[in-house]
Amino acid sequence: MLPEKILQNFVTKCLVEANKYSVKSIVFPALGTGFLKFPPKTAASNVIKAIRDFQMNNVQSTVKTIKIVIFGGTNDWTSIEQAYVLELNSTGQGATACAAPPPQKIPGRGTRAYLAHKYQEDPRPPSYWTHFKSNQTIKDWNTSQKGNPCKVTSVDTKTYQSIAKAFTSTGGSTIVKIERVENILLYEKYIQECQRTFRKAFVTQLCTPLQNVKKSSGPALTLKYLDQEMTKNLHEEINEFYLFHGTKVNAVDVIIQQGLDSRLASSGLLGTGVYTAETASKSAGYTDQNKNGESKMFLMRVCLGDIFITTQMTTFRRPPCMKCYNETCIKHPELFDSVVAEFGSRREFVVYDRCKCYPEYIITYK
Ligand SMILES: [Zn+2]
Repeated sequence: MLPEKILQNFVTKCLVEANKYSVKSIVFPALGTGFLKFPPKTAASNVIKAIRDFQMNNVQSTVKTIKIVIFGGTNDWTSIEQAYVLELNSTGQGATACAAPPPQKIPGRGTRAYLAHKYQEDPRPPSYWTHFKSNQTIKDWNTSQKGNPCKVTSVDTKTYQSIAKAFTSTGGSTIVKIERVENILLYEKYIQECQRTFRKAFVTQLCTPLQNVKKSSGPALTLKYLDQEMTKNLHEEINEFYLFHGTKVNAVDVIIQQGLDSRLASSGLLGTGVYTAETASKSAGYTDQNKNGESKMFLMRVCLGDIFITTQMTTFRRPPCMKCYNETCIKHPELFDSVVAEFGSRREFVVYDRCKCYPEYIITYK
């Protein structure tokens, strides 16, 4: 049998099978253009001929929509698309080519182009989320989503061990459970804030890494204990870290629904903000216990962006100006994104905008 005939028979068999199951639509790849190496025109004309013959011989078929998807990852995909369009037009059926753009090449980490890419991309949920999966964009999820956008899920063993190590190595006590908060609306706000920080870094200058900021005592301790599988999802370009946040047990529900709200927080050593720490022992100071003697702490993603380090108590309402260090400056456009307290026995990291942090994991402990 001629190779062209084999290709036609294959398409026909698929359509017969689809009809048998009352299928309404079917999608084919550009059959024959890969391994079989048919020239685009030959492949297109034989596939279309098989489809047309099927339609003529099966007028009552349930299959009403047939799509051909052309993979944009090859060098010759445009010639394949053209061949299909020509073939369909010549058979008088007209083609609606709605080509998806070819896959974008992601610029390398550490380049300025990467910063622009992160600002411009249509973000997806983290690949390890299990309810809101990364097969859809965040916008798609939030468009199709009805009702509660917040799911609390269990974590896999590796994630559990990674977080448990960071928690117990920094003064945390006995863990009861660790859960992940998948709140797609809240996560969107956080990611949009990260994107704004990427843009700022792109149009002005790169954020100085935490360990290189003047008076800094080094990188965040959590990076030392958390598994690389977890830390690889952080963006050092915008000083993004996992940090602990201690909270009252009965505040957990409102936080996972609405996020941390510095407007409801009482003023601390560095003013009214969301306080996070690199050690569980520091954050434990902000917790209480329920009647079972259990306490709750978050491991949060925090985007520190441009960091201002202070060595003394200052009651900020927002971070100071990046030029003159004045909190109420109106002369310069850029403020720092966060304030880090480098005094006392352990550092604290404060953001004054609740969108700069996301409460991703809940640690319940005794
Ligand atoms: Zn200023």
